[in-house]
Amino acid sequence: MFGMPSLRIGKILGIPVEVNASWLAIFVLVAASLSFDYFPGQFGWSAGLSLLVGVFTALLFFLSVVAHEMSHSVVARAGGIRINRVTLFLFGGVAEMAEEPHGPGKEFLMAVAGPGMSLVLAAAFFLTYTAARAVGASAVLWGPTQYLAMINLAVAVFNLLPGFPLDGGRVLRAILWKATGDLLKATLWASRVGQLIGYGMVATSVFGVLSYGASFIWFGLVGWFLAVLADTSYRQQLAKARMGAVRVGDIMTPSPVVVPGDLSLEELAHGYFLGGLHSRYPVVSDGRVVGLISLAGAKAVPRELWSQRTAEDAAEKNLQLLIVGADESADSVLERLVADEPGALLVVSEGRVSGIVTRSDVLARLRSDGQFG
Ligand SMILES: [Zn+2]
Repeated sequence: MFGMPSLRIGKILGIPVEVNASWLAIFVLVAASLSFDYFPGQFGWSAGLSLLVGVFTALLFFLSVVAHEMSHSVVARAGGIRINRVTLFLFGGVAEMAEEPHGPGKEFLMAVAGPGMSLVLAAAFFLTYTAARAVGASAVLWGPTQYLAMINLAVAVFNLLPGFPLDGGRVLRAILWKATGDLLKATLWASRVGQLIGYGMVATSVFGVLSYGASFIWFGLVGWFLAVLADTSYRQQLAKARMGAVRVGDIMTPSPVVVPGDLSLEELAHGYFLGGLHSRYPVVSDGRVVGLISLAGAKAVPRELWSQRTAEDAAEKNLQLLIVGADESADSVLERLVADEPGALLVVSEGRVSGIVTRSDVLARLRSDGQFG
């Protein structure tokens, strides 16, 4: 992810948490600005104390971001969506979903869960800060909590900006989705707002750099990243919608060459695999499909037994695994084809093979639509 390696640091509530190498940059930046600028400037602490408290505070900030992402993840999981992992990277954290939310209500809840957690953390740190000040505790105790209250509030506010794919943009998309009943249109509008916010941030940062100095560059980078991400997210949604509209029947090879079940592997190798174009054939016995024979399946049988064993012997015969409906979406079928075996699926009507669909059929269709590099 992000072209840099990620390190898995553990699992929380069964969800893997990974730190991308690019995240180290932001950690160092936060720790350094706290240690060399914020704490010494605010409290006049020594370099050693500032560094110690700075690194500790940066770690608590890191845990706050993890808590934000875990909150999304837990709500998503409660809504029946698997979370592959939580990753921290250059611009914060992401909870990677195995699929999109099933409806606007679920999307809304998932989206607000993260900023909700950040607000709760901001309130908790603020209460700790207030209590520590009330009892006259040292600034070493309340300084970090004051900062963490502010930064968690900032995280919540930024993420609630209504541009997709920010959390606030997902909230906006959920509302538009509910109102129009059209996920694609809702994504288009919410991501346009995302682009607008992103380019607005870039423009603000140019003005900021000219007027106040280089520290505004970061703001512009985040804005640019948001604008690009908004556009990409919409295109992905569009690709999914297109692929979802394509049926297996549209891309399958109709009436494929079939192999009789009693054919020996010897004859199969010479007559079909060597001379033919395909590496997989449906196997038919008494006019009905019984399985799928692949080159790999034949090779699994020792060479000297090829004259005695038949195509049916060596075929994959789990029809539940092999058969797919002509009206199923190509999108859902691709997932079944990503695995090495069986490598092809059969469309069967009344016991007869009416078509075969391979991974390359689906990928060719995806390429012709301009997705997937
Ligand atoms: Zn979030």
